[in-house]
Parts: sequence; structure tokens; C-alpha cells
Amino acid sequence: SFLGAGHYYRNKYLLTNLKYAAVYDKESANESIAIRKNAPELASIIQRALNAIPEREMQALRAKWLPVDYMESLVEIHLTQREQAWIKAHRNIRLGIDPEFAPFEFIEDGRYQGMTSDYIKLLNQRLNLNMSIIPDLSWEQAVQGVDDGTIDVLPAVGKTIERQTKLNYTAPYLQFHRVIITRSDTPFIAGLDDIDHLPIAVQQDSSHHGFLREQTHASLAVFKTQQEALMAVSGGHADAFVGNVASATYWIRKLNLTNLKIAAPVTTDVQSLHFAVRKDWPELVSILQKGLDSISPRQQKLISEKWLTVDYDPQVDYSLIGKIIAACSLLVIMVFIWNLMLKRQVKLRTSQLDYSANYDKTSGLPNRFLIMDRLQQFLTDAKRRHDKLALLSIDIDDFKKINDGFDHQTGDLLIKQVSQRLKKNLRESDSIGHLGADHFLVVQNHLSEASDAALLSEKLLACLKQSFNINNHEITISASLGISVYPDDGDTVEKLLKHANAATHHSKNRIQGAYTFYTKNLIQNVERRLELDRHMRSALEREEFVVFYQPKVEAKTRKIVSFEALIRWFNPELGPVSPIEFIPIAEKNGLIESLGAFVIEQALAQLTVWQQRYTTPLSMAINLSPVQFRSSDLIPLVESALLKHGLSGRNIEFEITEGVLLADYPNVKNTLKHLESLGVNLSMDDFGTGYSSMSYLRKYKFDLLKIDGEFINDIVRDDSDQKLVSATIAMAHGLGMKVVAERIETEEQYTWLNNANCDYLQGWLFSKAASAEEITALLDEQLNLKQTG
Ligand code: C2E
Ligand code: MG
Ligand code: MG
Repeated sequence: SFLGAGHYYRNKYLLTNLKYAAVYDKESANESIAIRKNAPELASIIQRALNAIPEREMQALRAKWLPVDYMESLVEIHLTQREQAWIKAHRNIRLGIDPEFAPFEFIEDGRYQGMTSDYIKLLNQRLNLNMSIIPDLSWEQAVQGVDDGTIDVLPAVGKTIERQTKLNYTAPYLQFHRVIITRSDTPFIAGLDDIDHLPIAVQQDSSHHGFLREQTHASLAVFKTQQEALMAVSGGHADAFVGNVASATYWIRKLNLTNLKIAAPVTTDVQSLHFAVRKDWPELVSILQKGLDSISPRQQKLISEKWLTVDYDPQVDYSLIGKIIAACSLLVIMVFIWNLMLKRQVKLRTSQLDYSANYDKTSGLPNRFLIMDRLQQFLTDAKRRHDKLALLSIDIDDFKKINDGFDHQTGDLLIKQVSQRLKKNLRESDSIGHLGADHFLVVQNHLSEASDAALLSEKLLACLKQSFNINNHEITISASLGISVYPDDGDTVEKLLKHANAATHHSKNRIQGAYTFYTKNLIQNVERRLELDRHMRSALEREEFVVFYQPKVEAKTRKIVSFEALIRWFNPELGPVSPIEFIPIAEKNGLIESLGAFVIEQALAQLTVWQQRYTTPLSMAINLSPVQFRSSDLIPLVESALLKHGLSGRNIEFEITEGVLLADYPNVKNTLKHLESLGVNLSMDDFGTGYSSMSYLRKYKFDLLKIDGEFINDIVRDDSDQKLVSATIAMAHGLGMKVVAERIETEEQYTWLNNANCDYLQGWLFSKAASAEEITALLDEQLNLKQTG
């Protein structure tokens, strides 16, 4: 029969020994509305109305009347004979519920509803159980019922020490975050510390109430129900609410409190709900657990979405994080990560607010204090992103003469115009400051090579050479400029400034109106680049490139499960050259494509060898340069390499950085789709170092997320790195991604990350990148060889 009909009557008459065995005819599933021939208008009206029903509502209807997913309800659960016998012997299982615990469980229109009720329906169906609620009990009475022996199961409870003496628990099946809710117009809040001094609304005797009492000094406004507490915040009688994200968003939606927003999570800890079963029924715990385990993540998501879908009101300022996901706890983690990122910026902005302390009166430019502060910030960013940065120190030649020859007011006006001209010639990402008198400082960010600084210097010097008109005086000036570059000329603000000033001095002495690089780095660099470029062209034929492999281990077992292919260049004249140095050159001279093809070919050939040798399933990660990614040759190359080596796409993984996605190249989407259809895994490399990684995660589907080594270095000690990494892991898991951490060098780092649920690890602690032979020796020690012959 039709699935819907079958399902309905099966439930209605409790024909629990029937099951969905198989699909008879997929096509026949369509139902239509038939309308009298002579009423065509009605047909079109109905059609339009049908078309206007949003897919989400359709889904909700299907979820309500159809089994959550009938294909998935074909799952078989393996119960032992004892368990089956137990179920036969216990036809009635009495549930004690909290009638006001929306959206988890509650009574509305006289019916038991909520997420837990859906879980119970599924479990009854799948396990042939007959769990039903004892109606008309308050929560206190339900809990009391456990003591009296009138209640067998509490289906949605948290663990407390006291309860554990009376009840056995299943593993948690619902988890949610504790969050802070404020009005939308409340200024930025990063965490509990920021609202410690405000009255916080909370539900009486809830776990949140206990938490706030024990962990904070906040003054609490206690309400009997969550609804009242939230309405108090909405109406301005309290400033913040602390509670469970799921119930809170449920009530916000229900009560239409559109002026509230989720401001921040309280901690990254989660609260869990379990089934709790009376002590003398241990069999039921294992039966329920098997049933819960059979509910797929997709079904869990459907159930959550059915009860949690929050309508994001743009004015509630969710636009920042977008409508990435409907699952609320995920939303919270993302808010959390954003908060951490924003916190840094807020710090900087706050300091900018105090205008007079930070800006020069004459020029209107940032003064020494502010520009040095910015420089420090840029330097930190550059270090993190492995970017170059240039410092341009500019000094007007013979300014004293102008001041003496005219008057001070003219001198001031000149400085003002010089400032404006310099500023006009900078990019948005650059920064300028006025150090005093006739001395300016420019920070040039995101240099791809040192010579970019030369171009900017020429531009700035040229713009100053054109004459100025001040109070009808035609004034011509020149300036001297010195450049220092991070990381070549120093890695601290002080060193860079000192070196840039030294170079300015050099310019002044040599020939005014020119620029000088600190030391001869520029020349040396250019020469080095040319040299690398020259050698690289024939290096492939001369077989100077080798692919090394670095194992990745599964965190829990420390067993090798895959490798990252890392290219190495050994040139007889140059010695070993780092990929960090030669890959950017190869990207410019076009050799990257043949290099990339070489790596893919080598890595897949090697993977086949290892797969044939060991019993453990192994996979291979390969780095893709943005240039390679945009090439139309990539897909055919990958397809033929897979075919040649008899590998499935599932065995390989491409690591890409956000550089790949950054410039919205038209075929990025297609290439990603195509790779996905080949089954190839995609990994976001160096996560956390770029700016837009978050938005890409929501736009494209990644299988893995690789946390940059920069966050791992200090993970054992640095509190904010710890927060960021745990939140990132939670977010990735929420989005269905696995997480890899790289650059693990110590046991302490290992332990921390393993405890934080990171899935895979890579780093010198396990193995350096090494030749295929060396890795083979290592694998022989660690993995089982396949039987041959
Ligand atoms: P990546 O993809 O982030 O690779 C990780 C880098 O960290 C590698 O540097 C690896 O040797 C290094 N590493 C691994 N474990 C540790 C550790 O415990 N401590 C420390 N300090 N470092 C560790 P490597 O091999 O020098 O490669 C640098 C970058 O060059 C790579 O960064 C990747 O972006 C690029 N690259 C390497 N091979 C290729 C390639 O075949 N194609 C492309 N397009 N890029 C490549
Ligand atoms: Mg990589
Ligand atoms: Mg990386």
C-alpha cells in the first residue's frame, strides 16, 4: 500500500509487529488533487497556493504524518534473545514527563509533543515497545513516581548525583548549550564576565539558576518560568537571560520576542539529556541504547529542525553569522568564535575612539602612538599568515628651510597637504602615521614580494614632487624614503622602525628624493628569485623533485591512517629549497601545473603500493595551489590518475586554502562539484589564518578542517587558543566535518587535542615528512602486512 496509509493505520491500530519491508514502486508516491472539469480557475488557484507552500513547511508536514524517514526505518536492530524476551514480558512502560519542558517535551492541545516525543515514537516503532506517558502529572509528581514505583522511565533528564542512585542512564541523545540572551540593542558581549554587574533573569530552580549562583556574583532576577524571564528582558526589566539555547529560542519564537538576540554562549560546555530507567530494569537501558544508536544523524537533525527552526530576523543582527544552520547549538559555537575574533578588533577600535590621544592635530593622521600600535597588530597578523609587510619611513627634505623661509602656519598647511596626498596614494589595507614634524610612516600590508614596496615608494615620492599651492605660494619639495621589510629585515616593531629610519638616512645622504631598502635585501632577493626560476625550469627533467610523505594518525589510537604529500626540491647547486620559497615562484612562472601533476602522480602511485602492502585502509592528502585549482586541466588529470592506479576518489583528499576560493572564479563551484562527484575529500588547510574561512565553510562542502599549526604551538598554555580550538572543533563536528590538527610536537599537545575530540593529528611527534622508503620502514613496524602468495 502507500507508505503514508500503511504508516497511519499501523500506528492507529498499534500493529507493531508490521514493518516496512521494501519499496515496491517509487514513482507511485505522487498524490494530486483532482478538481471538477468545469472549474479550471479553482485548479489554477489551488495550484498557485500549493506552489506557495515553502519547502520547509512541506518537510514539517511530511515529518508529522510519515515515518521520519521510511528508508531509514528499514534498519535492523540486533536485540539479544534475552532482550527480546524482556520486551515481550513488559508490555507497558510508564513514562514520567515534564509537561512544560518545551521544546524537548511538553503537553499542548492535550497531546504529548516535542523532540523527546518524536524519539519515543521512533523507539516504540523500532523496538516494538509500548512506552506511553502517565498523563496529568506535574514534573514533581513524575519524579516522585520513580520513588513510588509508579513511573518506569524519565525520558528527558540531565544527570545529577542524586538521581543516579535511583536510575540508570542511556548515553545522551540531545545536547545543548547554555547561552546569554539580551536585547538586540545591547552592546557587544563576549561572555559572562561582561554582564556580571547586570541583573540577570533566570528560571527558578533550573540548572542555570544553580550555575549562576555558584559561579558568579551577578544579581539574579528569578522567575517561575522561562517565558516570564524572557519577557522581562524583552520588556527592559532585566538586561540578560541565561538559559538553554533550545528552550530559549523556542520561547522567543513562540512569544514573538523579536527584540531579543543570542549574545554569547556562557561556556563551551554542553548540557545533555538522557533516558533514565528504574534501577531494576538494566535490560531496558541496553535496549533503548540500541534503539537510540539506530537513529541516524540525518533523522536526529530532522527532529531537531522540526522543533528548533528559528526564523532569523535580520534586525536581530544574525546577518553577521548568516543563516548558516538551523541547529541552534551550532549557531552558538559560531557566535562564540566570532566573538573571540571580534574581541581583538574591539580592543583596537576602543583605543581609536580616544581621538585626541591618537591623532596628530596638524595632519589629522594617526600619531606615533597609534601607528606603532597598528604596526604591532599588522605584524602579528603578518606572522600568522606568513605574509610580508613593508615599513616606509618618509622624511621631507630641508623642511626647516620652509619653516624658516615662510612661517609656521604655512609649514603646518604644507604638512596637511602632504598628508592628504600620501594618504590618497595608499590602498585601503595600508596604513599611514605622522611621527612628528616632517616625518611620516607608511605600513604596506600583504606584500607578495619586496619589490612591491619599491613600486609604492616611487609612487609616493612622485606625488610629492608636484608643487604645492599654499596661501598662493608655489612650494616644491622632495622627500627621502627608507624601507624595511618583515620578515627579512626584522621581526619586531622596534627593529623594523630602526632599520627603515637607517635606510631613510642613507637616502638623504646619498641623493635626496630617492628611496633605499635597508641592506641589499632587495637585490639579493631578486637575484635569488631569478636563480631559483632558472634552475627550476629544468629541475623536473633532472628529477630533482621528490615527494615526501608525512603520516596523519587517528587521535584516539595513534595509528597511521593517511599521509600528506609534501614536495621537496634538492638541487646540487642550491641545496634543499623549501616549498614555501619555490611554490610561489612556480605559481608565477607557470611551472606549478606540471609540478602539481607530478605530485598527484607520485602520491597516487605510492598510495597504491602501500594499500597493497598493508591491511589497514590508507588515504593520501595532496596540497593544491590556487593556480592549479583554477586550471581546466585539473579534473581530467585527477580522473585519469585515479583510473590509472585503480583508486577510488574516496582514497584521496585535496587540501586547499581559502586562497583558492577567495577570488570568485567562475569555475570554482563547478570544480568543487566535480571533485565531490568523484568522491574526493576536500580539506580546508590552514584554518584560522585567513579572514573568510568561516563564510566559505557555509558556502562549500568540506569534509575536513585542518587547524593551522599557529594555534597549536601554545595550545597547552594559551587560554584563547584553547577556546578557539575547542570551539572550532565543535563547530566542525556540528557541520559534519572531521578535524585535523597539524604541527603536533609534544605529548602535552597530543593529550590536549585528544581530549578536545580532535579526530586526526599530524606532526613531528609522530613522524616528520620523509621519503617513501623511510615511511615504508615506519609502516612495516606499525601496521600489519597483507599475506602474500
Ligand atoms: P602545509 O600544507 O600547511 O604543510 C604543513 C607544513 O608543516 C609542512 O611544511 C610540514 O613539513 C610542516 N610540519 C609538519 N609537521 C610539523 C611539526 O611538527 N612542526 C613544524 N614546525 N612543522 C611541521 P613544508 O613541507 O615545508 O611545506 C610548506 C607548505 O608548502 C605547505 O604547507 C604547503 O602549503 C606547501 N606545499 C608543500 N608541498 C606542496 C605541493 O605539493 N603542492 C602545493 N601546491 N603546495 C605544497
Ligand atoms: Mg597542507
Ligand atoms: Mg597547513
